Amino acid sequence: MNQAQEKIALVTGATRGIGLETVRQLAQEGVRTLLAGRDDERTAKAAQELQDEGLPVEALTLDVTDGASIAAAADEVARRHGRLDILINNAGIARDEIGKKPSEQLLDTWRETFDTNLFGVVATTQAFLPLLGKAPAARIVNVSSILGSLALHSDPASPIYDFKIPAYNASKSALNAWTVNLAHELRGTPITVNAVHPGYVRTDMNKGEGELEVADGARSSVQMALHDGDHANGSFTHLGEALPW
Ligand code: NAP
Repeated sequence: MNQAQEKIALVTGATRGIGLETVRQLAQEGVRTLLAGRDDERTAKAAQELQDEGLPVEALTLDVTDGASIAAAADEVARRHGRLDILINNAGIARDEIGKKPSEQLLDTWRETFDTNLFGVVATTQAFLPLLGKAPAARIVNVSSILGSLALHSDPASPIYDFKIPAYNASKSALNAWTVNLAHELRGTPITVNAVHPGYVRTDMNKGEGELEVADGARSSVQMALHDGDHANGSFTHLGEALPW
């Protein structure tokens, strides 16, 4: 692939977990990938480790809850590359106190969770849309969760029925709603936006519990980002399989 054809991707929250692995897999596919993180030093260190593996990775400072940081990151990508082919909104937090009832979770927990998981995605996407518009066929991937599925939360037979962590769950339901709204705006353009569930993945977020290793947990994001041809818009999937809203 020559320089002119090289795709440029950006993954938020990529200092560890699924985001870091997503950067690795995209870069292994030959995509020049911006590893974005909110802490300068940890972001540079994570990027350096992948560069040392010979991968086309660049560090980028980006705190999704800080408008000035998002604006500076968008300016920096414009300066370095002049466009963006793939935006993966991966940064996310889960702050609900396990064991507390839904009605007992603190309002501050709700606010903090929505700041990152919803408003951070909206703000980052707004800032990068002009650069995505300069790519021939841009892809936005919103890393959601099966825990955002209202249909499954309402079904007593569903495996997530009893997993009521409301601030996190509602933030992902809202992220899905944002995905559908933006997909409607973008229909008929070369930009698509889709939500994916990575699976139940062993990361810090789950305190090391989960069914999947990060290598498999990154696959839904990577597949959706690299999907060519007749591309979905406004979908919610895990490894290409549709999930109920
Ligand atoms: P993780 O290991 O806790 O990593 C979260 C990443 O997000 C870290 O790199 C963290 O950066 C970053 N982050 C948090 N707040 C940020 C901010 N304000 N600005 C920029 N980056 C920020 O979590 P994970 O399991 O890899 O989760 C990745 C995504 O997958 C999340 O959206 C999560 O909701 C979703 N997900 C995960 C699972 C699962 O089973 N693990 C299941 C469904 C969905 P720092 O290092 O600076 O803290």
